[in-house]
Amino acid sequence: MPVRGYDVIVVGSRVAGAATAMLLARRGLRVLAVDRARFPSDTLSTHQIQVPGIARLLRWGLLDRLAATGAPATREVRLDTGFGVVLAGRYPGHEGADALYSPRRTRLDALLVDAAREAGAEVREGFDVDELVRDGDRVVGLRGRQRGGAAVTETASLVVGADGKRSTVAAAVQATAYREQPPRTFACYTYWSGVAMSGGELYQRPGRTVAVFPTDDGLTIAYVAGPAGEFPAFRADVEARYLDTLDDCGDLGARVRAGQRAERFRLTPDLPSTFRMPHGPGWALVGDAGLVLDPITGQGIGNAFRDAELLVDAVAAGLDSGGRLDDELAGYLARRDAAATPMYDLTLELAAFRPPGAVDRELFTALAARPTAVDQFLGVLSGAVPMSRFRSPGNLLGLVGPRALARIAAARLLGGRRRTAPRLLGAPAQR
Ligand SMILES: Cc1cc2nc3c(=O)[nH]c(=O)nc-3n(C[C@H](O)[C@H](O)[C@H](O)COP(=O)(O)OP(=O)(O)OC[C@H]3O[C@@H](n4cnc5c(N)ncnc54)[C@H](O)[C@@H]3O)c2cc1C
Repeated sequence: MPVRGYDVIVVGSRVAGAATAMLLARRGLRVLAVDRARFPSDTLSTHQIQVPGIARLLRWGLLDRLAATGAPATREVRLDTGFGVVLAGRYPGHEGADALYSPRRTRLDALLVDAAREAGAEVREGFDVDELVRDGDRVVGLRGRQRGGAAVTETASLVVGADGKRSTVAAAVQATAYREQPPRTFACYTYWSGVAMSGGELYQRPGRTVAVFPTDDGLTIAYVAGPAGEFPAFRADVEARYLDTLDDCGDLGARVRAGQRAERFRLTPDLPSTFRMPHGPGWALVGDAGLVLDPITGQGIGNAFRDAELLVDAVAAGLDSGGRLDDELAGYLARRDAAATPMYDLTLELAAFRPPGAVDRELFTALAARPTAVDQFLGVLSGAVPMSRFRSPGNLLGLVGPRALARIAAARLLGGRRRTAPRLLGAPAQR
């Protein structure tokens, strides 16, 4: 491979890009990371980092730093199903981590950019990428400019697009999309001070999902998701519709109204779900650029961390072996898709807002009585426990016992006959 200016250029320096640049630099590679944004800065995203993502920050030596920003750890969570059953438990431990954190992106992204610089990566903020540079069909660099400056060309053995769901790199290489889904939900969130909380809270209501978590500076973030088709009606009166939703969640509305809204409402219907082919000659994609999913399950940041690790393993092996980079990147695709697909399916299922079926009612009723079972189910929602393992008959038998399992099986049979669509345990999500 001809000598280039850098081993790797990473376009985008938030959770996917900064993590990738840091891990590559720690392997001794020459890395340039660029972003049109400057840090610290916010982005349209809530920020629950699920336990597997926290386990990665721990492994990277960054969890203490995150905790030092004041981001509170959440260990206990309460899931109100909306049909009279409440699951209250703790996230099960995973690779040394046992809590979810919900740091503001202003702090999280800046912390990762600092860590990338400390590892030896060059990070250019306020740098816009305009186009890719090619040698034949191989990407060999990019052209861009520091804001207000002249265009420059930078070259590398690999250009990584970590530039989000509207990725410039993915568009330039025409990366093929697959399992593509138009938005199923819209999202609305804001921050509150003075709300009494004792952990995380999740609510399922007809056509609504609500997530409430403590975040930085003593604030509480309250997130409302609804079906994409209801977005125009919601947008017509955001505050009233938002508070109506919280009022339908036990005493949550009253607790929030007793506090003060600290920031403006954020609202978006732009929540597609898709995989993209994440590699080709001289290029790769990581984070939302390569795999974006509806945020209803809060998995995007953890996915970005996981895929940064997978990509960096492949790149380090490929560059070491002098010429086998493309083969190693094919392995990255396979490992990413195997790791991501179960949660992708579960996310689409939850984003469909199907009413709970008889199976769900039997299952959640049985789970609620058993703390170990509740914790394991919370592990499914966090991404630490695969749904396939959770719902295997042997596992359910151990969790809920033979009588409850028989009731669940009967409900499933009956549901099949009545052609109802059980939500979590039955029919897979539409592809
Ligand atoms: C409403 C909402 C709520 C969410 N809630 C959660 C949650 O609770 N938990 C969770 O895990 N995930 C959540 N997500 C998903 C999460 O935000 C994303 O998965 C995550 O931000 C992806 O990170 P990324 O680094 O891949 O991309 P991004 O965060 O989108 O960063 C991409 C960067 O690339 C830069 N860039 C783009 N184009 C160029 C260019 N041409 N030149 C230079 N720079 C460029 C941008 O400036 C940007 O800084 C949510 C998303 C939304 C929309």
